[in-house]
Amino acid sequence: MNKIAIFTSGGDSSGMNAALRSAVRTALNLGVEIYAVYEGYRGLVDGKEKIKKLTWDDVGGILQLGGTVIGTARCQRFRTRAGRLRAAHNLIENGIDALIVIGGDGSLTGADIFREDWPGLVQELVETDEIDSKTAQRYPNLHIVGLPGSIDNDMYGSDMTIGADTALHRIVEAIDAIGSTAASHQRSFVVEVMGRNCGYLAIMSALATDADWVFVPENPPAPEEWKNEMCQSLRAGREAGRRDSTVVIAEGACDSDGNPITSQEVKEAIESQLGEEARITILGHVQRGGSPSAFDRNLGTLLGHAAVEHLTETKPEDVPQLIGIRGNRVIASPLMDCVDRTQEIAKLAQAHQYDKMREMRGWSFTSVYEILHVLLQAEPDPPPKIERKLRLAVMHSGGPAPGMNTAVRAAVRWGKNQGHTMLGVHNGYPGLVDNDLNELSWMDVSGWSNWGGANLGTNRFVPQKGDFYAIARTLEEQKIEGLLVIGGEAGYDGAYEMFDRRREFPSFNIPIVCLPATIDNDRPGSELSIGADTALNSIVSVVDKIKESAVASRRCFVVETMGEHCGYLAFMSGLATGAERVYLHEDSPTLKDLQNDLDQLVTGFIGGKRLGLVIRNEDAHPIYTSDFMARLFEAEGGDLFDVRQSILGHLQQGGSPSPFDRIQATRLAVHCMDYIIEQALSPDPGSAFFGFRGGKIDFTGLEDYVRLADQTLGRPKTQWWLDLRDIAKVMAEPASHP
Ligand code: ADP
Repeated sequence: MNKIAIFTSGGDSSGMNAALRSAVRTALNLGVEIYAVYEGYRGLVDGKEKIKKLTWDDVGGILQLGGTVIGTARCQRFRTRAGRLRAAHNLIENGIDALIVIGGDGSLTGADIFREDWPGLVQELVETDEIDSKTAQRYPNLHIVGLPGSIDNDMYGSDMTIGADTALHRIVEAIDAIGSTAASHQRSFVVEVMGRNCGYLAIMSALATDADWVFVPENPPAPEEWKNEMCQSLRAGREAGRRDSTVVIAEGACDSDGNPITSQEVKEAIESQLGEEARITILGHVQRGGSPSAFDRNLGTLLGHAAVEHLTETKPEDVPQLIGIRGNRVIASPLMDCVDRTQEIAKLAQAHQYDKMREMRGWSFTSVYEILHVLLQAEPDPPPKIERKLRLAVMHSGGPAPGMNTAVRAAVRWGKNQGHTMLGVHNGYPGLVDNDLNELSWMDVSGWSNWGGANLGTNRFVPQKGDFYAIARTLEEQKIEGLLVIGGEAGYDGAYEMFDRRREFPSFNIPIVCLPATIDNDRPGSELSIGADTALNSIVSVVDKIKESAVASRRCFVVETMGEHCGYLAFMSGLATGAERVYLHEDSPTLKDLQNDLDQLVTGFIGGKRLGLVIRNEDAHPIYTSDFMARLFEAEGGDLFDVRQSILGHLQQGGSPSPFDRIQATRLAVHCMDYIIEQALSPDPGSAFFGFRGGKIDFTGLEDYVRLADQTLGRPKTQWWLDLRDIAKVMAEPASHP
């Protein structure tokens, strides 16, 4: 391999800049030259100033920008061989024979055609005397690697595409905003979102908000029935007390005969059948824009890094790969296989083969759709035949985490839909001790999907000694047969204590299930906990602002995040904001580390740097506190730079939950309820804690809690994200190459 070029193509999406920055810095760290091609394939065909070598600093300050700073364009000429011949010439002229393409299936197809054509194109350039044969010998092959860049999340081979999460943020913000005005006037709204063949954005935004109906390409309703079905449901919602109705429609929605369902038709159906005004909002390009979410920044960073590493290790005979993620892991899959399958889904839509289309969707379409269908109803389904009507309780414990209410809403509705009684315990374990709980109805939890905080109340109280008698009495009196604890460390500790005493207190011999909800992301058995994504986004948006405030002076910021002994928030926010150093309890900093970091800061500022950013986890070190560090840096920085510290505090625990936290809280709650119901009916009920592992929801028996958790430090004994430390290092400082 000679040199690498990177470009973005097709529709732009937020997070592409993170991928660019990461690829550039990874390449430079490996001593490989890297070029940007401006304006996608058009720049490749035009060459000259459109292909530019990039330096470390060229990609500074772009992480927080939406879109793509190197531009993107559609290009007809590249579809012709003549166009590709020019492109090959332009690359060879710059010494490039490896490409990182960030885009959708169209862009990736173009790259593969180019790769296949390459030897012939090089030959032709020799024959027309544009290059000599010696040069041709240096470029026998074109190496390519693809990254999925699309807001639609429609690419096979990756759980998420770069930009989809940010688009969901925009949509969910908009639907929340529309919901509040709709409720004020008792109006109906039809919200149209992007997605021609893929209902991801529509279905997930409907799941994350309090939408009442949704139309997606994958699940087309019968042509003669959809208007009545929808209107009946909306009417039932109003009768049950809803003040507004929101219908989410994907732009590619159609009926089962393939006739498009338009926003206008939906509006007219509502107006004629319900006799009320309906308004249409087409979100359009709002969905593409704006600063990337924390997730998209980190996804772009991981994939950009992996793309370069992959190219440097690739051999000519290797089939080209698409780099994507599954769960939290980077994976590579054959590029054209991913493209073919992606395009096959579009063909299935055209052929009206919707069953197959649903089957091929990677994000377990059917289960998400089923959950959505239950939750958006105005009232539960008619009670199914059940063995026994159970009384199940749900509660919080631990610090507040955005998404707690979302989880309660899903748990209550899922349980009630199966005919069981749902009880809400107030204020965590003290509510169980004091018998402070009440039955929750279907409409009691209406609108809870987007509320921050914890409506049932939460605190860090863990029951001790005599409390267990009181709790046992409450469980007996209330005839509680299953308990869902949505929370963090205190929740898990309390649940384990009860589980451990089930021989002593027979009423504890019920399924006790923990759902990880803490911004700290420190629960064993789960790679992610509810609330952490929202907290991360809150931190990132504040740090972006803090960085901007420093334009006028040379300044270093010491930002302190929450997390107790778990460095997840500090580390991931550092990665997403471009911090040069992150201090974690996991890598307890020494005085020598501080000295080295200080030396580097000083060198940086002498070299013209204007801004420094270090992020410190609140419990990173008992002596080297944020205040200590700020004073140390200030004293040593002298006239060169000044230092400000910023302790972010409780803004991290608040706020409306992010789309990801809402979606995952809902999915987790449903899984937990299914488990509780199943176990409650079994003679020897199990207890468990749930979580995400390898992209799937799974559970671990509560008996394993002590084995998997470091109880002194309150975090899992192994933490997956620590593996990302090397990448963070690469992003933060250039390696010196002779
Ligand atoms: P996306 O990558 O988002 O699917 P497009 O399908 O519009 O977007 O593709 C973007 C660009 O990729 C096109 O304008 C064209 O330059 C190039 N491209 C797409 N398909 C091909 C193809 N079959 N052959 C050559 N180039 C292609």
